[in-house]
Amino acid sequence: MTFRRDSAAEGIRRAAIDAKSLASINALIPGCVACAELAAERTRTVAGDFPAKAQLMLVGEAPGAQEDAVGRPFVGKGGQLLDRLLADAGVTRASVAVANVVKCRPPGNRPPKRAEANRCAGWLDRQIDFVDPEVVVTLGMTALTWALGLGHRLGEVRGSAVDWRGRRLVATYHPSAALRFGPSGAPMTLLRNDLSYAASLVTAA
Ligand code: SF4
Repeated sequence: MTFRRDSAAEGIRRAAIDAKSLASINALIPGCVACAELAAERTRTVAGDFPAKAQLMLVGEAPGAQEDAVGRPFVGKGGQLLDRLLADAGVTRASVAVANVVKCRPPGNRPPKRAEANRCAGWLDRQIDFVDPEVVVTLGMTALTWALGLGHRLGEVRGSAVDWRGRRLVATYHPSAALRFGPSGAPMTLLRNDLSYAASLVTAA
C-alpha cells in the first residue's frame, strides 16, 4: 500500500528549516495557507509567545476564539487558569514560551484534523529548535500525539518526564479539560501537579 505524501507539509518543513531565526519563522506563519479551510476562516495566525531564554515551553492544541482575535496563545479562560497554576508553581507566565501545534483556529473550535496538525508541526518543530527549552510540557492529546506519535494514552505517559529530542518532556492535561471537570476534578489536580513538577525540572537543571 502506498500513502499520498502531503506536499504542503513538506513545503512547510523545508521553509522552516531554511529559516535562520525564530523571528523569520514567525514572519512566515501569517502567510501560510496550507490548510485551506483554516486559512479562510482565521482572523489571524497565532505563532506563540517566546520570551528570551525561556527554559520551560508549553505546547497546546490550537487557538480558540479569543486567541484568534488577539493573536496570542492562551488568553481566554484556559490561559487564565494556566497563568494561575504557573504562579502557584513559582513561575511567571512572562518567562514561559507558549505555542500551539496548530497556528490557526479551527472553525467552531473543532479539534484540529490530523493532517492539519501534521502540516503545522513543521513550524512548531523549528520554533523549538530556536527556543531551545530544557523542558517541554504538552497540554492535551493533540500536543502529546505531536510529540510522541499515535498510540500513547495520557494516563500512561503523564506523571514523570521522558527524554525527548535532548530535552525533558512532561505530558499533562489541557486547561480546557481541567475547566470542564471543575476545580475538584482529577484533570485540575493533575495539571497543577504536572506543571509544578515541570517547573521543578527547570529549577533543578
Ligand atoms: S494551521 Fe498551520 S499549516 Fe495550516 S494554514 Fe494555519 S499556519 Fe498553515
